[in-house]
Amino acid sequence: MSVNQEPWQWPEPVWRGHINRVRAGRRLVAEVPEERWPGGAEAAVLISFDSDHETPFLRDGNVTPAAMGMGEYGARVAVPRILALLERHAVPASFFIPAVCALQRPDEVPGYVERGHEVGVHGWIHERNSLLPREAERDLLARAADVLEMQAGVRPVGIRTPSWDFSPHTLDIIRELGFHYDSSLMADDEPYELLAEGEQTGIIEIPVEWIRDDAPFLMMDRFGGLRPTYTPRELLQVWKDEFDGALAEGGVFNLTLHPHIIGHRSRLFVLDELLSYISQHRVWYATHAQLASHVAPLI
Ligand SMILES: [Zn+2]
Repeated sequence: MSVNQEPWQWPEPVWRGHINRVRAGRRLVAEVPEERWPGGAEAAVLISFDSDHETPFLRDGNVTPAAMGMGEYGARVAVPRILALLERHAVPASFFIPAVCALQRPDEVPGYVERGHEVGVHGWIHERNSLLPREAERDLLARAADVLEMQAGVRPVGIRTPSWDFSPHTLDIIRELGFHYDSSLMADDEPYELLAEGEQTGIIEIPVEWIRDDAPFLMMDRFGGLRPTYTPRELLQVWKDEFDGALAEGGVFNLTLHPHIIGHRSRLFVLDELLSYISQHRVWYATHAQLASHVAPLI
């Protein structure tokens, strides 16, 4: 009935149906801020990387050596630099990596795992999942989880969808494949349970935000109008302010970075500075999987 109608013509059940397909359920933080995080920490801090490397170019068919080289920088230069920085700060992180990247460099995923970091699913080739038929979307995610399990020695419990996109089937597929959490949606600052058509799913959402992502501020496209909008130092201030807000509310600060974007000399210092700033406070540094396990009893 709604197919040929404009959104302004939709009857109430139609627009309600769209809104209700995937919604935020219960917020998964303890009532009392002092009881929220292990060790009486005042905030939970999650540092995550989407190790996309060549795949955002590949998935759009941009296979020029120039594009491949820009992606390769992420794995070749940025990842070792990031791992050294995390080790220096003794901070665990979650790395979400497309299966194609993992297959291209079979040492990368084991390198994350042996340093105590988490590895999560990030699609097969960073596919645009909302353009795929259900079966293709499911097949790619299932095979991606198999590849990461084989390389990491443990099945990934979490997923971050490529480009944080969600098809009408994504939540069903996440449930079918047995993931514990997703980290792609933005309905809250704090973790929450995902509802499907109003029903509880048991899936924990660890929300992201474009504000706490390097890509929207620092990306550029030579042939398009896209240019970095902030300098790295300005971005540092945004993220400090985001952290200060999380600290004031006793909540979660969840940052998303991309090796091929943040890993440059003039940019990675932002993470160095940020972690030094955050570590002056009593915080709980956790992987996404650790946070999901911590809040799961609240469901
Ligand atoms: Zn990505």
